[in-house]
Amino acid sequence: MRVRIDEKDFINYPFLKESQNFVSGYAGSPERFLCTSTGKAALAQAKDRILSAIAGKSGQKTNARPALPTDHDGVKVIVSGYALARVIISCMKDRMIIDRFTRSEAQKAYECLLDEEPGKKVFIATSLGIDIGADEVPLVPYVELSAGMREERWRLVNRDIEHGMVKVKKNETDEILRECIRVTISRNLPLPVPAGICEVLASVVKEISEAEQQHLLEQFGSVEEPCFPPCMQALILALSAGTNISHPGRFALTAFLHNIGMNSSDIIGLYCRAPDFDLSRTMYQVEHISGRGGTEYTAPSCAAMRTTGVCVKKDLLCERVSHPLNYYKQKKRKDKRNAPVPSGNMLVDRNAGGAHREDEAGNSKNIRDPRGHHQGEHDQEDNKKNQA
Ligand code: SF4
Repeated sequence: MRVRIDEKDFINYPFLKESQNFVSGYAGSPERFLCTSTGKAALAQAKDRILSAIAGKSGQKTNARPALPTDHDGVKVIVSGYALARVIISCMKDRMIIDRFTRSEAQKAYECLLDEEPGKKVFIATSLGIDIGADEVPLVPYVELSAGMREERWRLVNRDIEHGMVKVKKNETDEILRECIRVTISRNLPLPVPAGICEVLASVVKEISEAEQQHLLEQFGSVEEPCFPPCMQALILALSAGTNISHPGRFALTAFLHNIGMNSSDIIGLYCRAPDFDLSRTMYQVEHISGRGGTEYTAPSCAAMRTTGVCVKKDLLCERVSHPLNYYKQKKRKDKRNAPVPSGNMLVDRNAGGAHREDEAGNSKNIRDPRGHHQGEHDQEDNKKNQA
């Protein structure tokens, strides 16, 4: 049966070749396009797309499904907004934003896919280069796509394979398609955008960077070392004991601390005690990882940490996360939930009893454990709850 792709599909699936052709048919040069009323509206749409991706929860259901425009111009704005968003995040070269954007876009498309007729799903899958049946996927694309899917059920050992086809449940094909969309959207990002275009977009880039910073601060809040995952605690402990840590360990720790909002001078302070400490080299490395060179790095995932041998002392919470940043977020959230209802005057002596830490640069910090416990008590309590 012949499947008809219309303007509604361009909105729902702007990454499709057909949607891109629709945009390139009228947009012309980006500089000229941005001066038109459609271009200005598309820029606002692009900004909204990225901001909602930053604020949303990657890989989880969002409420960000766009209201469908009713006219042809509205479709133009939405589809070119998607293309412009790719250009903007390419100018930003921030891997965390790129990752959030691709996950958010894939999730939006997935939510539309759920209501689609089977023929349309097959059309989209074929257009993305994957031949998905109703309950099976060819082995090679399955292996490639399942590598980015966290749950145990996607592992090949948990699947039946017949004649080179991996058996999947009916509703799982949509999930595989979502991952395929994410990979398709991620492909070629960041794009090689000419510097002149990034200059034209500089004010939007700045606005989004500020929003991201603010979101990070809201999300991670103050830096609370007791909530660090075991791998990061071990790296800090090694540094404090004057031990050299491996290059992957340094990269992971620096990126992690930067991602949770620690400033560069505090991060550099941590490295002072390393036997091979060299201030200018450390400053260069920390600032490079923090984005000075134009690319801001994200801490490696647990899988990558395992490969480089820096995933150590895993605890029960580790079983439920696939990224050290998620560990930190979950632990902070959990600690907040378990914090006793404060009595007395919270404004008086807020730090009394909090862990006091003096870094190697001589900056002292009070790191308040919300439960007023020491780290060992935290873990015992968490473990008991997790076992229960
Ligand atoms: S599982 Fe992840 S969070 Fe836990 S120690 Fe290993 S790398 Fe760190």
